[in-house]
Amino acid sequence: AAKSLGRNNYQIFEGSAEQSTQQNLALKSGLRHAEHKGELRVFYQPQVDAVTEDIVGMEALVRWEHPELGFIGPGFFIPLAEETGLIVSIGEWVLRAACRHAQEWERRFGLGLRLGVNLSAVQLMQPNLLEVVASALEESGLEPALLEMEITESISIKAAPNLVENLQGLHRLGVRIAIDDFGTGAASLDYLRKLPADRIKIDQSFVRNIGVDPDDEAIVRATIEMAHRLKRGVVAEGVETEQHMEFLRANHCDELQGYLFCRPLPQPAFEKLLLERQRLLAGVSDTAA
Ligand code: C2E
Ligand code: MG
Ligand code: MG
Ligand code: MG
Repeated sequence: AAKSLGRNNYQIFEGSAEQSTQQNLALKSGLRHAEHKGELRVFYQPQVDAVTEDIVGMEALVRWEHPELGFIGPGFFIPLAEETGLIVSIGEWVLRAACRHAQEWERRFGLGLRLGVNLSAVQLMQPNLLEVVASALEESGLEPALLEMEITESISIKAAPNLVENLQGLHRLGVRIAIDDFGTGAASLDYLRKLPADRIKIDQSFVRNIGVDPDDEAIVRATIEMAHRLKRGVVAEGVETEQHMEFLRANHCDELQGYLFCRPLPQPAFEKLLLERQRLLAGVSDTAA
């Protein structure tokens, strides 16, 4: 059966498990060269203020533009990159590229947009993580407070010796931390208690069930309330419908991200979006004057 690689991506997997093992091997070796062959791309998806719907940030999402297969989504190749250790250099490449883009947009548009970058568990355990992040900031000139590293709950806090130290170090750099896919891990509350997180991203599997499953609605509501009581911000992922938006807004979620507003866009398209927004604002102030 075809394995869905996400709506943005081609479905490349058909046939038997054996075929896909072979494909996996071929892909792993392709992935090894993807970075220096310039086949990696960073896409950007806006995050909007839940009340004004104004763009307040963007998440960097990596894609691999395979010469034969077209765009391959991270849900598929990140696990391969983690298995092979390639995630360390791919992740560093994404971080540096995204910081450069964000700083360029900051220079041109001055919107103070926050940049979210995903960090793999493997990267979080690297002893030189802080140096890499510090140098990406320095090299790009991006203000540390505009960078938010997104971490998933897939790693056990106990099993990851450098995790807490690395996260505290990121805070000392002035970088923000978000817990991604909140609610899906086995240890969500433990994470929240022990890690210095500024924000929670409610996983799309809960958001999807707004209007469908009252239990998931209750979890979303309780998560927002809990985040706020702990003085954390909260973002909902996978916002696809007006109904999702209305529910999240009514329950005071701070920010929203999802196809309802915008899909992840390649760098030039994202830039165009910012340009249009700027023109729109200029137009509004023209008529006001
Ligand atoms: P994530 O960090 O939770 O990112 C959100 C995912 O949801 C993205 O998938 C995004 O395209 C998708 N999405 C956004 N809005 C909607 C919506 O309204 N409906 C639905 N159904 N989906 C939506 P994507 O880009 O395929 O990325 C998948 C995952 O891959 C990410 O989940 C993240 O865990 C990982 N990832 C992406 N880029 C990187 C990266 O540079 N480094 C690392 N380590 N992981 C990455
Ligand atoms: Mg994320
Ligand atoms: Mg997520
Ligand atoms: Mg995810």
